[in-house]
Amino acid sequence: MRAIIPVARFHPFLTSLFEKVGIRNMLKRVNKGESQMLNIGPHLSIAKGFKKAGEEALLVNANTFQFFTRNPRGGKAKALDQKDVDGLVVIMKEHHFAPLLAHAPYTLNMCSAKPEIREFAQMVFKEDLARLENLPCELYNFHPGNHLGQGVEKGIELILQILNDEIWEGQKTTVILETMSGKGTEIGRSFEELKTIIEGVTQKEKMGICIDTCHIYSGGYDIVGNLEAVLEDFDRIIGINYLKCLHLNDSMMPYNSHKDRHEKIGFGTLGVDTFQKIVTYPSLKGLPFFLETPQENTLDYKKEIDLLRSF
Ligand SMILES: [Zn+2]
Repeated sequence: MRAIIPVARFHPFLTSLFEKVGIRNMLKRVNKGESQMLNIGPHLSIAKGFKKAGEEALLVNANTFQFFTRNPRGGKAKALDQKDVDGLVVIMKEHHFAPLLAHAPYTLNMCSAKPEIREFAQMVFKEDLARLENLPCELYNFHPGNHLGQGVEKGIELILQILNDEIWEGQKTTVILETMSGKGTEIGRSFEELKTIIEGVTQKEKMGICIDTCHIYSGGYDIVGNLEAVLEDFDRIIGINYLKCLHLNDSMMPYNSHKDRHEKIGFGTLGVDTFQKIVTYPSLKGLPFFLETPQENTLDYKKEIDLLRSF
């Protein structure tokens, strides 16, 4: 998830396409029944509460959403309001929601060279896991971290110290490693690095992966030219059973650029066809997809969701 940057409005051709597929999609949903619906939702703010976020998801035709566990730059999480949480639970049941995704703050760096940064990361991670026990959300996504010159091996060792300290056998949450673009000293660009982290965790069954389409394309995995080969690599190296969700973002940056700038679906280097392939790909069926595309306001996600549901 990157900062929301206002970009150009939808091209008139795409706008009319979105309108057409919106109607087509409504008919499709009637024919298909809710059970085969694509599981998709945007990143939403929980500043006005969890129930409000659930209502916003419905407004944009979503059946899930992602949220930050606290301010994305860190800081303290608000105390949970049980009535508000119960309100979301009711919405999720009534509307057959797919699993939600919680996202850790960007400032969480488990493998910093500075002990105080690692201590902060451990504190946030521990608190978030405890908090998620009381939320209707089973997936907790974080960026593996930046080793800041210490090297990948040392970085992974530091990440594993915290994961193995804090992940417990009976927890309901699956901890999700996000695939990264590989900018700077980021860990998690390659499937091999992610595999090494999972291998080192004692409670492996509590681990999972989120593929971010923008990040892996920038990271050197050609999902535009050969999605099948990339997913085969993922399965061979990590195991497709570890894939729990995807971030659907187009990219402003070229292939293998190691730069991370999200773009609206269909407006970047990945293009509409790539997203059509992804949301209809057999081994990805049923997984929750999350949009972190730059939008002027939340309601604009509806156009993207309707388009993706039409495929
Ligand atoms: Zn992220």
